[in-house]
Amino acid sequence: MNTTTFHTDLLIIGAGPTGLAAAQLALEHGYEVDLVDDNFQSGGQIWRGGAQTQHDKRAQLLAKMLAQSSRLRCHFQSKVVHLNGSINQFSAVLDHVQNTTSTSSRIMAKRVIIATGARELLLPFPGWTLPGVTGAGGLQALAKSGYPVKGKRVVVAGTGPLLLAVAASLVERGAIVTHIVEQTSFSKLKRFAFKLFATPSKLWQALGLAWKLRQQQYWSTAFVLEALGGKRLERVVIQHAGERKTIECDFLACGFGLVPNLELAAGIGCKFDTTKLPEESFMRSPLTLSPRLESSIAGVFCAGETTGVGGVDLALVEGRLAASSAVLSLKQAQTDNTAPNETEAQQQLANTIVEAKADRNKWQTFASNLESTFALREELTQLCRDDTIVCRCEDVRFQELKIHPDWRSAKLHTRCGMGPCQGRVCGTANRLLFGWERDLGRMPLSASPIESLLAIVESKEVTSNQEIT
Ligand SMILES: Cc1cc2nc3c(=O)[nH]c(=O)nc-3n(C[C@H](O)[C@H](O)[C@H](O)COP(=O)(O)OP(=O)(O)OC[C@H]3O[C@@H](n4cnc5c(N)ncnc54)[C@H](O)[C@@H]3O)c2cc1C
Repeated sequence: MNTTTFHTDLLIIGAGPTGLAAAQLALEHGYEVDLVDDNFQSGGQIWRGGAQTQHDKRAQLLAKMLAQSSRLRCHFQSKVVHLNGSINQFSAVLDHVQNTTSTSSRIMAKRVIIATGARELLLPFPGWTLPGVTGAGGLQALAKSGYPVKGKRVVVAGTGPLLLAVAASLVERGAIVTHIVEQTSFSKLKRFAFKLFATPSKLWQALGLAWKLRQQQYWSTAFVLEALGGKRLERVVIQHAGERKTIECDFLACGFGLVPNLELAAGIGCKFDTTKLPEESFMRSPLTLSPRLESSIAGVFCAGETTGVGGVDLALVEGRLAASSAVLSLKQAQTDNTAPNETEAQQQLANTIVEAKADRNKWQTFASNLESTFALREELTQLCRDDTIVCRCEDVRFQELKIHPDWRSAKLHTRCGMGPCQGRVCGTANRLLFGWERDLGRMPLSASPIESLLAIVESKEVTSNQEIT
């Protein structure tokens, strides 16, 4: 079989802020970088539409720098479906999907940075499968890609600062955001706002959003009980201030925060430790990482929201930290360590690592505030009725699941989590509803064409037989 194979120093998976910052640092030090993302351009979730098109100056600078580099290869619309190997000989198999055709390729790399970001946490409630009910970030992404929301009445619900960002971008595109429904309490929000003084850029961002949304109704201690309609959504029922309130709307954009995408890290075998995480914690990542963000597999680094949800500033700093660590380890492995400027370059990297670690601490404090403020309330686990669908891929209802003792039993008997999303949606929901832990790490990560499966078999042979030279 004729799969194209690329050889590189550093493979970065994910071209969001983390991946872009990591690529920039490695390129500055003269290394070859392959950057992979399943979107059709760089920017990740926050800089959707391309890093080069954003108001954020950091995005523009990163995009410009990357566009000018001859040592960078970008693979967009390419999903890493398999990753294996060990230091100096990692192998990733990519599925490229363009129009209706799909091809595969392979990247052989000396070091890997996993920067696969996070996804929305969606929770089931009666009516959540009606057309017109979407994730909060989901509707934002659709609208940013041109989906018409002008004149549509939207309720934005769930939890976290993302609700404000979503509501603001929908309003900008002409939607009528009638209500923002936040499940956390007003007193928690007040404490969070006070803590924002420690990170003035976030405070300004919050004030800017509050100003843009001054005409929208903002309800705290409120959550969706039910979405109602015939063929599509017509109204939602909200629990607010001890009362059930009904709101007419065209869209309900509902997201309960973000959860790290851990499948790739788990699939290659990075160690996890769930014992240190509070049970109700969804935003944190159980990945075991060194202070330099190296995983339990030497040469594999994890950064950005894969390591826990904390916003774009934390993502950028972690990208730099992971790349500095990866580049330093490449330099230390070089045979000619005595070359002129080499000691100086290594010292410079060591300094970058120290600075990035300090910055990381600051933004991690912000991340902890996020987590404690927007922890999910108990009532959200009680919303399902017996006939509420929990696994939308396989149409599995709450009553079919509740009789099972664990995820495995539920999966084997009902096919829950065995559809196209492979439990990415219902797996997290089931953790909240039943306390079940999902098995994360199975390769290939998604249904793949035969060509990719053959490339995976070849990869296993290659990585066990040869080192990259
Ligand atoms: C739906 C959504 C909307 C958001 N909107 C906002 C917002 O409006 N404002 C805000 O401040 N923050 C927003 N955030 C949070 C924001 O994404 C983060 O703060 C920040 O972008 C994290 O950067 P990252 O690089 O770690 O991850 P991301 O930006 O998520 O980038 C990770 C990239 O990796 C790619 N990827 C994942 N797995 C693979 C794979 N196997 N193969 C190839 N590519 C892969 C993903 O497609 C993605 O492009 C949003 C998050 C989500 C999930």
